[in-house]
This record gives sequence, structure tokens and C-alpha cells, in this order.
Amino acid sequence: MLYICATPIGNLDDVSSRLISVLRTVDLICAEDTRRIKKLLSRYEIKGKKTISYNDRNKERRTKFIIDVLKKDHDVALVSDAGTPGISDPGFYLVREAAKEKLDISPVPGPSAAIAALSISGLPTNMFTFYGFLKKKQGKREETVSIVKERNETSVFYESQYRIEKTMEFFAEHLPDRPCMVCRELTKKFEEIFRSTVSEIKDRIVEKKPKGEFVIIIGKK
Ligand code: SAM
Repeated sequence: MLYICATPIGNLDDVSSRLISVLRTVDLICAEDTRRIKKLLSRYEIKGKKTISYNDRNKERRTKFIIDVLKKDHDVALVSDAGTPGISDPGFYLVREAAKEKLDISPVPGPSAAIAALSISGLPTNMFTFYGFLKKKQGKREETVSIVKERNETSVFYESQYRIEKTMEFFAEHLPDRPCMVCRELTKKFEEIFRSTVSEIKDRIVEKKPKGEFVIIIGKK
């Protein structure tokens, strides 16, 4: 079985007992960064696990190796640095190739920053689009914002501390009056939630220059 395992997005207490038991019992753990998963393994006293890296740079080579391991009837867990693999994180390629080979794949569900943010947004969640990170090229960004306008439903974006200001300035230019929520450092010590319009939150972010990881949720008109 290939287990696709969600791990905490900040607070290491956010694990399920199934996650711990899967990590304890699999033959191999594939991790975006082996140092990060070791922290979680050590916190839950999981010792002596074979752990290899699986990331965008080595995914093709590693996928072949992992598929061979699975074909020998071994169990494998895939984890990313935080949250759910495959959601703006490595995983898609391995899952697609394993599915082509008709191997068994099972999710071990848990945290994802997008869903955690949506759950506290108070914005409609019956229809939403997850865009991941806004592209850097101006043409692509404009293409995305025109889709946001056209769909007129809740939109979810990820952003890092390095681009949050620029990204909010861009959204404020195009969608100033839309309802918005920006979450910073969910589940961590400096968790902070901004709720207002896109334009007002942009002003607060430009003024405060907050650090950390962000989810931006933009509501419909
Ligand atoms: N796979 C992950 C998931 O399921 O949430 C997302 C990985 S993506 C490479 C990392 C981005 O997720 C960050 O730049 C940020 O936008 C968002 N993110 C992750 N953890 C977060 C947190 N604790 N608070 C706010 N945003 C977070």
C-alpha cells in the first residue's frame, strides 16, 4: 500500500492516531525533507525507520524506485514538509504513476492549510477554487485574476512572507472591495487572522510587514 499522509502545518499535536500507526508500520517513508519528518518521528518516538527524500528534483528517479518497492509488497508512506502531499507539494507525480501501475493507494487525511483557512473564513465554501501560489509573471497573474472575476466564487491562494505584500497589492488593484481573509501562521504561536476587504487588508499588511506563511481567501462579489 502507498499511504499519502498529511502531517501538521505547524502544531505537532495535530496528528491522528492512524497517522502515527501508519508511520510506525510502513517499510519506507518518503519525505520532501528527511530532516523535517525526523522531528515528527522523534516526537512520537518512532525509531529505526528507513527514510528517503522525495521532492521535485528527484521525483522521476525516486518514483521508479518506490514503485519497485511497492511491487515487492512493501508498504510506503509519502509525507511532505507540512500538510497534505500533492496540494502545492510533491506527490501528484508519484500517485499518478502508482495509479497507472494499479497499485493500492490510500490517503491518511489530516491538515491542509487551505481547508483549515476555509473552515474559519465565514465565506461560502459550497463552491470554491484553490489556485495555490499566484504565478510570478504579470500575464499569468492577470489570467488568474480574470478567472477569479469570471467565476465569482470563493478563491483560495497560498503565499509566502517574501511575496505577500506584492500579491496583496496586485489583488487590491483588481478586486479592492471583495470580502477577504488572510491567515498567518495557522496553528502556530503567532497565528493571526485578518478579516476585511482586500484593499484594507493590503494596507494592514503593507504597514505591519507580517512574517510567516499565509493563506489568502477572497470572497465573491
Ligand atoms: N501541502 C500543504 C498543505 O496541504 O497545506 C501546502 C504546502 S505549500 C508548499 C506551503 C504553503 O502553504 C505556504 O507558503 C502557505 O501559503 C501555506 N501554509 C502552510 N502552512 C501554513 C500555516 N501554518 N499557516 C498559513 N499558511 C500555511
